[in-house]
Amino acid sequence: MIPKPAQYLLRCDDLCPTASRPRWQRFLSLIEEFKIQPILAVVPDNRDPDLRLSPPDPEFWERTREMESAGATIALHGYRHLAQSRGSSLVPLHGMTEFAGVAGETQRLWIHAGLAILRGHGLNPRIWVAPRHGFDLHTLRALREEGIDVLSDGFARVPFHRGGLTWIPQQLWEPVEKPHGLWTICVHPNTAKDSSVDRLREFLRDHAAQFTSVERVLTEMRATRLSPAERVYEALTLGRVQARAMRKRLLGRLRKTRAA
Ligand SMILES: [Zn+2]
Repeated sequence: MIPKPAQYLLRCDDLCPTASRPRWQRFLSLIEEFKIQPILAVVPDNRDPDLRLSPPDPEFWERTREMESAGATIALHGYRHLAQSRGSSLVPLHGMTEFAGVAGETQRLWIHAGLAILRGHGLNPRIWVAPRHGFDLHTLRALREEGIDVLSDGFARVPFHRGGLTWIPQQLWEPVEKPHGLWTICVHPNTAKDSSVDRLREFLRDHAAQFTSVERVLTEMRATRLSPAERVYEALTLGRVQARAMRKRLLGRLRKTRAA
């Protein structure tokens, strides 16, 4: 059997009414031009000063509702987007996160409140996107109890089933051509450089037809437990991503010391 060519998902993180509107507009134009059905990771009750970049946009919720109607999938992106907990995550990429390590009842309250806020704005949150990849077994249980059974994270090349949820992997932070598998490209509209937007446009010119949606992934690709080979691939990729993040942090520190 010849494996199918790669499929891609676009995920846009850190959306909220005070996210930078002009910076978000750069991606909105691409999403419209290429008719992409992205994952929109929305922070329900943002308290993170890094995401207070514009005065609150009175059209934010309405525009997000329209995008959902056009096929975007709404993701619950944490609760307040604060990273105050030092707990170990199921996808350990950051020391401090919002959810990993927080008591189970608190996590359930936050998830419940976050979903209620998004639903109160007429959105239908379908999946979970953890801020800074921070989530643990308590998070998975709280999500299940609140009726969310899909998340976007992990480094396999196919959707899989773990901890009672379907995991749609997210492995890329910029477009990369891949021969097979399902690849989620996560972008941060608030901080992305113009050159990254240009790269994404180039990629979409060649590959727009290979972009899928969460809805299609869930109906077309049956998630099962990961095969041993895929688990090895997942572990190796996690190691590579951790090493890259460490190198970046060290270089940043070195530059600061040199500048001082
Ligand atoms: Zn975030």
